[in-house]
Amino acid sequence: MKKKFYVSMSLLIATIFLLITYNFNVVQNEIMENRYNALINDLRGDVTTFELWFQQKKSIVNTAKDICGNFSYEELVAFNTENPYLNINNEDPSISQIYIGLSDGNFITGGKWIPPEDYDPRTRNWYIEAYEADETIVSSVYVDRETGKMLVTVSSPLYLEDQFVGVVSADVFLESIRAFLISVIEERNSYSYLVDEDGTVIIHTSWPDLEGQNINSNINVPFLSDYIEEAKKTNDIVRMAYQYEGNHIIGIVQEVEGRDWYLSVARIDDPNLLDIYLGHQWIFLTNGAMLLIILFLIYMIGKTRVELHTVNELLTKENEKDYLTGVYNRRYLNLYLISLWKRENVDKLSILILDVDFFKNYNDTYGHILGDEVLRKLTKCINNSVRKNDVFARFGGEEFALVMENVDSSDAKKITQKMIDEVDHLSIEHETSPFKRITISIGGVTVRPGKDLSVRAAIDYADKALYEAKESGRNKAVIISR
Ligand code: GH3
Ligand code: MG
Ligand code: MG
Repeated sequence: MKKKFYVSMSLLIATIFLLITYNFNVVQNEIMENRYNALINDLRGDVTTFELWFQQKKSIVNTAKDICGNFSYEELVAFNTENPYLNINNEDPSISQIYIGLSDGNFITGGKWIPPEDYDPRTRNWYIEAYEADETIVSSVYVDRETGKMLVTVSSPLYLEDQFVGVVSADVFLESIRAFLISVIEERNSYSYLVDEDGTVIIHTSWPDLEGQNINSNINVPFLSDYIEEAKKTNDIVRMAYQYEGNHIIGIVQEVEGRDWYLSVARIDDPNLLDIYLGHQWIFLTNGAMLLIILFLIYMIGKTRVELHTVNELLTKENEKDYLTGVYNRRYLNLYLISLWKRENVDKLSILILDVDFFKNYNDTYGHILGDEVLRKLTKCINNSVRKNDVFARFGGEEFALVMENVDSSDAKKITQKMIDEVDHLSIEHETSPFKRITISIGGVTVRPGKDLSVRAAIDYADKALYEAKESGRNKAVIISR
């Protein structure tokens, strides 16, 4: 019973500990998940802004193309510089004036730039790329020789009456997107960077020094290129975690539509370690307090249980006792014998039935009150010879039973004789008995409890032995062995 209690309590405590550990991990994962989710949100915003920005630039070039389509070739090439048909962008500082590299090698522009003598637009990358792609393209990033600013070229092939006449282009400065990204990072604790397909950092909102450097050669960031490679392959958002200059960085990266560029949003993971620690400690303390409360409750339950058990035991004992003599009653004796018969480890068992001799006469002579007194004295006297494991019970009337485990018939004989002698020595006066004092007779049997002999049959044997003791003169014991 007690063992069961401790086992279930240990299980409960182990479960609580498991739960706490589990909670702890869940919270930790949740925190990480939250951080990544926040980054994903930031990235979504950045990607949208970036793609929109590119769309605008493309549409400026496409608008220029539409305008050109309204004129004849001669009208179009009439002005080399400050060409009024190309001079359409005076509002967007992030894009240059439109220019056209003509298929005959000439160059016209809405701006003021006059190309050097040996300049041939047909040898330029933007011209070749747009001509070959036969659609609006964004060139790779390069640095403008005059301004030192980063730019790309948006270029598109121009047809007049289905004749290819050249490539319409505009230079697009990355400054504006950079400015935008920088303005938004102030409102959040992540930064952005843009890497092209070769691994060159195009924009970095936090460390501008890195712009123009290559993640594969100049910048020593382990795994970063692997992450970008993965984003290229999966065409999906890729989670990153890496070290840079002693900082633990977490971030995500995704390919940007329209060019093989990779936009990433990242943050230094936890400059505020203390906050996180305190956050975790709070969880830990709550769980700990919970555990203490539960342990206290368990303790209280255990204590109440022990108290109830003691009270129950007392109550049960009361139910088991004979009112007059204080020894066990017949009900208890029966239950005890049944339990003995169920146990398999009882080798031998002696059952004795004790009966007061000529007790009817005693009552008749001295009255019932004194008779009761005799019964009490007798039980007290016999109780002295009863060992801790023996069960002594009132069988009914002036009859008692004594059940002794692991006592064979020869021991039983000794014990019974001793009891008869002790009762005899009490010398309780009994005029109407031939012995002149109170005596007892005992019938007993030694059995091996089991299937081949019922409780009832064992009692019958003892009864028979008692009858023999009475018949052969009383004040004696008869023990039979089975
Ligand atoms: P034997 O030697 O053959 O046992 O003779 P006996 O008179 O003792 O036997 P019998 O069965 O004829 O009588 C038993 C008597 O025990 C009857 C009754 O008056 C008495 N007795 C039974 N229970 C009590 C009790 O609780 N108190 C008192 N005072 N007497 C009791
Ligand atoms: Mg009797
Ligand atoms: Mg009797």
